Amino acid sequence: MLFDTHAHLDDEQLAESTAEILADAREHDVTHVLTVSTTLASCYRSLKLCETCPEVWAAVGIHPNSCHEANRQQWKEVCELAKHPRVVAIGETGLDGYWDFCPMDLQREYFLRHIELSHATGLPFIVHMRDCEPEMLEMLDAATDPGGRLNGIMHSFCGSQQAAETCLDWGMHISFAGMVTYKKNDELRAIAATIPDDRLLVETDSPYLSPHPARGQRPNTPALVRHTVQCLAETRNTSFDELADITSKNALRLFQINA
Ligand SMILES: [Zn+2]
Repeated sequence: MLFDTHAHLDDEQLAESTAEILADAREHDVTHVLTVSTTLASCYRSLKLCETCPEVWAAVGIHPNSCHEANRQQWKEVCELAKHPRVVAIGETGLDGYWDFCPMDLQREYFLRHIELSHATGLPFIVHMRDCEPEMLEMLDAATDPGGRLNGIMHSFCGSQQAAETCLDWGMHISFAGMVTYKKNDELRAIAATIPDDRLLVETDSPYLSPHPARGQRPNTPALVRHTVQCLAETRNTSFDELADITSKNALRLFQINA
């Protein structure tokens, strides 16, 4: 089995062909997909998918590039939706220093709300980090529980070795997407080789950035997670099956899903 821990199945590039996309995923042994919401409307679409597709679970939250469009009432609804039995994570949240859709102060405020919701529900939070590593590490450090722990996932990780180690020290999981397969990303592969077996996850971040050798194929879909698994297996001197097994078990444990 393979577990794609981060896809945006409700994205308009994928939403019209969900049935075909999931059939293709199944054919390539992708038995589990976590669909990650970006807005309140996206949360509702994600939950609808979960209710009709047994292999799909959901994360609910407001993406850092969308929080300027959210309001207090919408956030309250997100918190209510987090109680849905098919919701197994909180997000997508985090900070984005690349796009300036949303002021950084508001991104920080929403990020903290997601972390609080994660604490309240016991569900892990999913972190988007783009061009903001020092601020991110500072915020995460301030958010650790009294035991110095964080129940979170660094998604589509492309940060530094030091950031990875710091997040691991807090007990976080590190998830790799298609970027780790790209030819020029030797440094990222070197980091991926150092992540302990029990903290490693794989994802596609569909519909964005298809992994090599499907790079440039649009859109990216969960079936393509196998290329990232293959790349990580080679990088870590292990087999495809072993890497698939490790990452799937980690995801099932983290999301508290009974296989
Ligand atoms: Zn995402």
